[in-house]
Amino acid sequence: MNRPPLDSIRNIGIISHIDAGKTTVSERILFYSGETHRMGEVHDGEAFMDWMPQEQERGITITSSATPCRWGDYWINLIDTPGHIDFTIEVERSLRVLDGAIAIFSAVEGVQPQSESVWRQADRYRVPRICFINKLDRIGANLDATLEQLERKLQARPVLLQLPIGSEGEFSGVVDLLTMEALAFAETDQGRTVSRGPLPEPLRDAAHAARERLVEAAADCDDTILADFLDGTPVEAARLQSALRRGTIACRLFPVLLGAALRNKGIQPLLDAVGAYLPSPRELPPVTGRRPGSDAEEIIPCDPAAPFCGLAFKVQADEGRKLTYLRIYAGTLHAGAALQNPLRKGFEKAARLFRMHAHKREQIEEAAAGDIVAVAGLKEVLTGDTLCAPGHPVVLAGLAVPEPVVSLA
Ligand code: GDP
Repeated sequence: MNRPPLDSIRNIGIISHIDAGKTTVSERILFYSGETHRMGEVHDGEAFMDWMPQEQERGITITSSATPCRWGDYWINLIDTPGHIDFTIEVERSLRVLDGAIAIFSAVEGVQPQSESVWRQADRYRVPRICFINKLDRIGANLDATLEQLERKLQARPVLLQLPIGSEGEFSGVVDLLTMEALAFAETDQGRTVSRGPLPEPLRDAAHAARERLVEAAADCDDTILADFLDGTPVEAARLQSALRRGTIACRLFPVLLGAALRNKGIQPLLDAVGAYLPSPRELPPVTGRRPGSDAEEIIPCDPAAPFCGLAFKVQADEGRKLTYLRIYAGTLHAGAALQNPLRKGFEKAARLFRMHAHKREQIEEAAAGDIVAVAGLKEVLTGDTLCAPGHPVVLAGLAVPEPVVSLA
């Protein structure tokens, strides 16, 4: 793999309540994007997250902290966010390094307390989100109730991009409200084929009403669409999408997609939406840091030509060696480069760089602003440390979350 173009990078995480389907969705994303070549089921211990033998033995799931995958023109880094409520501090830490998120809700259980707390954390860091309402195939699935809870419990403005075709066991596809086409997901090839067809007649009125609401939401983000909306002039899909994208990045609205991940339904449109609505690293305000010993804020430009600056957001042991996951905010890092760690007052060598795929590590020679890379060779770095180009010390203080204190008593 070469270096991804900055505008095509999407650093995203999946946030959800336990059991809403995060593992199933992650696995489908990796399968459809070609990262993995077969799909295990969560319940048979074959989910990709369980594939490493020692993890199978211990019965736990540890993933790479950031798994890269390709979807069309997009280079997606899927950042692992801990699913368990006890790891709230880790959730916070990972929220700080991602640029966008997929929030998964179960259409049966709706918005559960844990989803509320993660949602509020994401609000705090202004993480743009798209929502995936999962399990529409299950008995008791209730889309309207879930949307109502998004508004009432999360004070969010959901914008429905699709309507379901069929319900519960009959759920077979969705109407794409931008193009007003029906999307059907094939049962036979693990859902790889999505066929597009005309809008089903019985859904015509409901689809037009839902599209009207979608146009209204876009009009709130774009005055020219507002003018067309008031005139009754039709607005084409590309303009709507671009307005909704701006609203999503500003965290003013939250596009909603539908599916049943276990039945392989809804994943491709979800991946399309990651590219279409969530921001590239360059589209978010730059992070700021401070020079040690100074109170002056320094803007860290998302620019591969600027002095290097990255955040160690996860330090993991990998085959007995220390592997540090870096979110690069500025500059370009070459394998073998020296880095300064202003907090620990030391210099270290980023001996080797990797992309950690689901099943293999890919050694790379360089990585640049906006990207995420795993680094071997850093000995003293702790999670939360900033690493910089020697001679350009800066600390991303606002990004560091202290490690939880473990009592030895
Ligand atoms: P996580 O805890 O959020 O990672 O959720 P999992 O992906 O482990 O899913 C929890 C349970 O729900 C598992 O038994 C899945 O097989 C099941 N599940 C996930 N998605 C769907 C779906 O779309 N439909 C149905 N019927 N079950 C699902």
